[in-house]
Amino acid sequence: MSFKQKIPELLAPAGDIERLKTASLYGADAVYLGGKNFSLRAKAINFSPDDMHEGVIYAHEHGVKVYVTVNIFAHNKDFEGLYDYISFLNEINVDALIVSDPGIISIILEKFPNLNIHLSTQANVTNLQSAKFWEKQGIKRINLARELSFQEITEVKNSIKAEIEIFVHGAICISYSGRCFLSLYLTERDANKGECAQPCRYHYRLEEKKRPGEYLPIEEDNRGAYIFHSKDMCLLKRLQQLISIGIDSIKIEGRMKSPYYVASVTRLYRAALDYWKTNKISQNPEKDRLPEIFFNELSIIGTRSFTENFFENPPNQKDMLYDLERVENSYVFAGIVEQEGEHIIIKVKNKIKCNDEIELMKTGLEISSYRIISISDIYDNEMPEANPEQIVKIITEPSSANIKKYSIFRIKKI
Ligand code: SF4
Repeated sequence: MSFKQKIPELLAPAGDIERLKTASLYGADAVYLGGKNFSLRAKAINFSPDDMHEGVIYAHEHGVKVYVTVNIFAHNKDFEGLYDYISFLNEINVDALIVSDPGIISIILEKFPNLNIHLSTQANVTNLQSAKFWEKQGIKRINLARELSFQEITEVKNSIKAEIEIFVHGAICISYSGRCFLSLYLTERDANKGECAQPCRYHYRLEEKKRPGEYLPIEEDNRGAYIFHSKDMCLLKRLQQLISIGIDSIKIEGRMKSPYYVASVTRLYRAALDYWKTNKISQNPEKDRLPEIFFNELSIIGTRSFTENFFENPPNQKDMLYDLERVENSYVFAGIVEQEGEHIIIKVKNKIKCNDEIELMKTGLEISSYRIISISDIYDNEMPEANPEQIVKIITEPSSANIKKYSIFRIKKI
């Protein structure tokens, strides 16, 4: 049965063309990506103009929209070449530009009035007046700052017509979304240019000047202190609340993340949105719960544990990961299908051996297990095992014929 609940768009990250295609396969309605210039996350692999053009054609053929980030904190010199770049994006028919700088926005509004502008989270919209201001400027969609509570999100959503987009999953900053100089000071990589080395997650120790190498513990555990190490955001349990107030798009963070991560998180949120398409939201928190399988799948994705960030209350110490670097996950990325056929060709991501059981992540939350019968290189030389980045043909039991290109296999950690 289908109810009249408006299901938001699912917006997934695409660090490169492979991840764009993976996100499309696993249920994204839209992807966001950056070019080599004018984009935060400049160190994400990012798209050349040709890749971007190919990506837009591919996405549109698969019913997926493409939003391109032009969200640098621009200085005067950054405007060189900007007009030509936006002309190019216009010509290849991208669906929107994600922008934060008012100077860049003014150029788009004046010269490219047909282009949709989505306001980047980098603009830090934290209140209704600010949202109204941007709406008046002609902004089609506003990504609200991650630092808002559900109550505040609701107040904004109820009072403006512009679309509202909300981050629901992924890494968060301990500063206002990327407006932070820690990385620049410590590593000369500027978070404000998308090059953050995430030093907030480094392990810190105290050293007395005259005793080099003698670290004084400021410890949260015996490996050190993770002073600024925030857990990752996850609003999976809160989707029904976002749906009930008519949020237009939910966004997954992670253009630097692997295709495995992109596939795992995209498929999880796709399945959750599909669940709420067919199950009525009652506004009763006891009843409005996703089945346990969603949280089992969530726990398999590598994480820094989860926080709901500002959703109910401002985060505090329990939302930081003081005692360890990451939560151990039980599965790893085995490989991605490079070529379909009677026997598939995969790019290996973690060592696989004959007789290993690998799991195909299907759309929905289904999994199918396959036993590897044989592995061979592209010249058909058999090999007992394959290592990361090798491209190999595998024969499996049951047959892996019909498995689509860009499908992802995972394997249980030993
Ligand atoms: S150092 Fe940490 S808080 Fe600062 S921008 Fe990078 S990820 Fe965000």
